Amino acid sequence: MVVLKFGGTSVASIEKIDRALTIAEAALPEHPVLVSSAMGDTTDHLLDITRSAARGSRDATNESVRVIRETHLNAAGAIDDTSIREACLRDLETSLREIESLATGISLIQECSRRTQDAILAFGELLSTRIIAARAMDRGINTRLVDSRDFMLTDEHFTQASVDIDATYSAIQAHLNDANATLTIAQGFIGRTRSGVTSTLGRGGSDYSAALIGAALHASRIEIWTDVDGIMTTDPRLVPTARTVSHMSYAEAAELAFFGARVVHPSTIQPAVDRNIPVYVRNTNRPEGAGTRISRDTSTPGVRALATKADISVVTIHSSRMLNAYGFLAQIFAVFDRHRISVDLVTTSEVSVSMSVDDERDLSDLRQELGTLGRVEIEQKQAIISLVGQDIWKDSRTVARVFGVLAGIPIRMVSLGNSDVNLSLVVPSRQVSDTVSRLHAEFFN
Ligand code: ASP
Ligand code: MG
Repeated sequence: MVVLKFGGTSVASIEKIDRALTIAEAALPEHPVLVSSAMGDTTDHLLDITRSAARGSRDATNESVRVIRETHLNAAGAIDDTSIREACLRDLETSLREIESLATGISLIQECSRRTQDAILAFGELLSTRIIAARAMDRGINTRLVDSRDFMLTDEHFTQASVDIDATYSAIQAHLNDANATLTIAQGFIGRTRSGVTSTLGRGGSDYSAALIGAALHASRIEIWTDVDGIMTTDPRLVPTARTVSHMSYAEAAELAFFGARVVHPSTIQPAVDRNIPVYVRNTNRPEGAGTRISRDTSTPGVRALATKADISVVTIHSSRMLNAYGFLAQIFAVFDRHRISVDLVTTSEVSVSMSVDDERDLSDLRQELGTLGRVEIEQKQAIISLVGQDIWKDSRTVARVFGVLAGIPIRMVSLGNSDVNLSLVVPSRQVSDTVSRLHAEFFN
């Protein structure tokens, strides 16, 4: 059994849905469960409806409903078989009317609770899967459309509901473990509370749905189909020769996700990690590519990818009080804690501490309070460059190569050895492109 998850861009039109179904058809002998997101930007449009209705802005609400209606009716209109098409269009129309009445309800009371928001957002996945299932039947595939709310059992934390894992695994087995099923189609993102109310798992939650279904059914693999060629060695906008990483460990993928790499987020695939199920990231537009395989087996040592995080600041505190003293770092971090500013990298010497923080925030209050502990210096327009790969620092030649190719680049901070999979450098933002190009040429060309 395999799980194939398609993101919004991979089901954004009937042409895209056809591609997705061609991929699913090839996997039919493995009893695929196809988990889908909402079509394209539908979730955003649904969110707009909740906001414009709450403002009482009828025109904006109608416009969003119109866009959603058009996208879905257009796609369903392309279904060849008349009776399949008409049944599908009828169901879509029923759902669209429900969206409209919910919007009217919201605009009457000019308020949208989280619970009502979830009731509306859930329609994205309900509509997309209705069309995908109809198209699959249209293509002659023996198809079963299920309602994920029957087995994704959550708490009442609407818009960010937590899944009751044990109850959900049993329910998934009860609902989906049918050896005769050819193609099963399920919604990502949505669930239901104990008292039967529709909930959602948080934006981007479909990957998590797919991982839970795969874990519950002991899938042989989970494929996440998106619009990029898996995980790349670095951002291709920075280095045009960037290429797909064929295999990486969960730990490496987690490290990359922190840097905002467009990959699956580690917490969403945790259920797959726990049951040691490999997760593939593949490109719907280039299905012949193998994509990236993420699995538990520790990959071979070496640099797997380069990630960057732009626009950070380095905050440094100099103080001779630090010399041979204890509790000083604790005092510094307590200040960051009070200002709710999270620190990414830290380096210390006997008389100074440097920390990297996100740049978007106003740091003047922080600066003032840290000033009571020592002399404070803040350098803006810096960037973190991270080399991610298993045990990179254990081979001193790798470290030597890094500094060898970066001769002449002002490196502001180095963080090495704190994790098995990461060597991070801070350089001025304007040096990012040069730094990444040199490192990429050294390790990947
Ligand atoms: N459709 C939802 C969203 O856009 C869930 C997902 O795509 O994973 O956030
Ligand atoms: Mg989406």
